[in-house]
Amino acid sequence: MTADAFRTTYGTGPEGVWAAPGRVNLIGEHTDYNDGFVMPFALPHTTVAAVARRADGRLRLHSASPDVDGGVVELHVDELEPGGGAGWADYPAGVVWALRDAGHVITGADIHFESTVPTGAGLSSSAALEVVTAVALNELYGLGLEPWRLARLCQRAENVYVGAPTGIMDQTASACCTEGHALWLDTRDLSQRQIPFDMAAQGLRLLVVDTRVTHAHSEGEYGKRRAGCEQAAAVLGVDALRDIPVDGLDAALEQLAGEPELLPLVRHVVTEDRRVERVVELLEAGDARAIGPVLTEGHASLRDDFRVSCPELDLVVSAGTGAGALGARMTGGGFGGSAIVLVEEAAAEKVAESVVAAFADAGYREPRVFTAVPSAGARRLS
Ligand code: ADP
Ligand code: MG
Repeated sequence: MTADAFRTTYGTGPEGVWAAPGRVNLIGEHTDYNDGFVMPFALPHTTVAAVARRADGRLRLHSASPDVDGGVVELHVDELEPGGGAGWADYPAGVVWALRDAGHVITGADIHFESTVPTGAGLSSSAALEVVTAVALNELYGLGLEPWRLARLCQRAENVYVGAPTGIMDQTASACCTEGHALWLDTRDLSQRQIPFDMAAQGLRLLVVDTRVTHAHSEGEYGKRRAGCEQAAAVLGVDALRDIPVDGLDAALEQLAGEPELLPLVRHVVTEDRRVERVVELLEAGDARAIGPVLTEGHASLRDDFRVSCPELDLVVSAGTGAGALGARMTGGGFGGSAIVLVEEAAAEKVAESVVAAFADAGYREPRVFTAVPSAGARRLS
């Protein structure tokens, strides 16, 4: 129990326990820094935090994660500076910094974290860690901030304090998702809608396949794609690629004829925004089965136009669809991490086995496969 582990670490009990989930993005990839649309849902996997306030400015952080050094990290809230330098503890410390930087009074905390979100698998363990910190402090310090605003502050913590350039999707998903739904999010104005996504009721299952690889160049490539999209928007004279409507795509591509590097990036972003709309239409019509081909088409676009896939992710998609899946795509930033595979309930086991067998044949490490059930966003547990 998280509260007991808190007691063992700090010698007294916590004031409360909170949870925030990891997420999977159903569709809308690399659109969030183009002011476009995304559609994540929350996983049942969560990061849980037992928290107590402190009045003396000390911030003590401890994680049971086997991936990090087991000691307590001790910081002081007045001394938090972007750039951090405290390893994993920069994520929660960054949240405290962002809250204080926004003018909120936080006088310290003791926090113990436990998590079932796989780290570095593209399932957003970093956002879960930030958001659970933010919701706990929001409540304990009576800040009254709405979930979407907490997500914004968590993004600032990750971008500015940790120094990782990410969009707003992950934190918003962790803070705002609801059970049985995917979250449609307009990353320009942060308007959102809960879209019914109860797969079990329709005899479907969504498998997540964690390839357990992260290719080393992923961060640099992410930065290049982001810069390429900004450059393309400038050439096309729009604020962001989101402003190119799908029926304006041909004209935009013509305008970019002299920029062979930028053209496929634009084609991906514009068609991906349209795929998000399509998935919303299908789910609202109660036809989750029909989103399969849209997912697979999205993967092809990420692989061939945006070029952020990798052999392992491509293999999940080809082996999954080859074994009868309704559709499949990489999810998250790419270059490793996870893919999703939509299957008929009855075919789930066969498809999962085929993917695992294909990995063995290719000489890859065995992937981790689990069923993703759209779950609740951040909440208080006790
Ligand atoms: P992802 O968000 O896809 O899992 P990131 O690289 O963005 O991958 O974030 C992973 C990092 O977040 C880890 O390397 C670690 O520093 C930190 N982290 C996430 N969850 C925990 C946790 N429960 N305890 C300690 N650190 C964590
Ligand atoms: Mg992350």
